[in-house]
Amino acid sequence: MTSPLQFFKYSRGALQAENVPLESIARELGTPLYVYSANGFLTPFRELQEELIEFNHLICFALKSNSNLSILRLLAQEGSGMDLVSGGELYRAEMAGVRAENIVFSGVGKTAEEMKQGLAYQGTGIYSFNVESLQELTVLNQVAVSMNRRAPVALRFNPDVNAKTHPYISTGLKKNKFGISKAEVLEVIRSLDQMPGIHLKGISIHIGSQLLSLSPLDDAFGKLRELIDELQQHLKNRLEMLDLGGGLGITYKDEVPPSIPNYAKLIRKHFGKQLKQHPGMRILIEPGRSLSGNAGVLISKVLYRKKRRNKDFLIIDAAMNDLLRPALYESYHEIVPLQQGPRKSKNSAKTSIVGPVCESADCFANDRDFSLQPDCGDFVAILSAGAYGFSMSSTYNSRPRPAEVLIQNGEFKVIRKRETWADLIRGED
Ligand SMILES: *Cc1c(COP(=O)(O)O)cnc(C)c1O
Repeated sequence: MTSPLQFFKYSRGALQAENVPLESIARELGTPLYVYSANGFLTPFRELQEELIEFNHLICFALKSNSNLSILRLLAQEGSGMDLVSGGELYRAEMAGVRAENIVFSGVGKTAEEMKQGLAYQGTGIYSFNVESLQELTVLNQVAVSMNRRAPVALRFNPDVNAKTHPYISTGLKKNKFGISKAEVLEVIRSLDQMPGIHLKGISIHIGSQLLSLSPLDDAFGKLRELIDELQQHLKNRLEMLDLGGGLGITYKDEVPPSIPNYAKLIRKHFGKQLKQHPGMRILIEPGRSLSGNAGVLISKVLYRKKRRNKDFLIIDAAMNDLLRPALYESYHEIVPLQQGPRKSKNSAKTSIVGPVCESADCFANDRDFSLQPDCGDFVAILSAGAYGFSMSSTYNSRPRPAEVLIQNGEFKVIRKRETWADLIRGED
């Protein structure tokens, strides 16, 4: 079971990760501060590895969810591949030493430059470009031909899963910009003879994020299976791989996401037979949030308590530039004190926790009942901040980005320094 406190636990009233108390780190390094637990990434990763062990498989961590080099190295050393969506992410993968055959490149807007970069990666080029449109395929073909290469491709199929029956992912599905239809896939197959720079390896899908039910994946996998059955009749060579995407949800509050064993069971149900019959066929998955989300917290210090008639505002030193999700998606994050103490009854009003940025959207929690009421100078942890936290941060309001810390084997290490004011104006005239 995932939980916001799965890898961060109280011991004698102090919040810790892997037996390291977070408050001492916060005092030493200042706040706001991202803190990750290595076990937070490794535990779900290893569980997925074990569940898929019977297949020729590759787990490609969606590095946009958390792209710190040390995190990428941590996962790559465990055998993880990477799913990336930009030239910048490919550069990060290269700096982290991720092997070419473990990289897939997704995204609707790859430039010719990025295609070149992918084809040249470590000399051999990456494992697959997950192509999202016919025009993109045409450009990729031209780029590959100009380099005297064949680009490995998976077509990203949009399975058009009925969004209405699955409201949790409706936003992911209305975005028509992702993927191509079955008719277009078939059209591409017919035109492959005219594309000497393309090597069709497989089909990919990715239907959305923070999925809390397996049923949309069940639908999508079913449609994918139908499609590949049909394709195999038209293709000279067998498909070499299927990329099933990411999207498994996590618990932010009290949601119950699908378990990893049940997720693996669904993969087995749809593709187990094919994969057993064709051991050369490789299955990929692209988990992001389910590996990183509950592996990290954002620590912040309470600056002020501002009393209003019916509620209090707690102003903390972290803001929407550090963690954008609440402002962007009105998403929920649990917020807990680093030190548990006796309830302070004078502060029993409903509380909103807000940051210092000049936007009303800069709010981490609205009208919450806090059984433990932090006061000025106290530290709090915003939980489940390991995915789409630092990687979405900005310097809005000219706030330097926070430091990042990794706790592993009972020790902590700064894996990204706090930005300085000089960093803020770097490159400006
Ligand atoms: C973002 C993304 C993922 C990861 O999604 P999660 O919900 O974080 O698991 C996987 N594949 C693609 C193509 C993506 O764009």
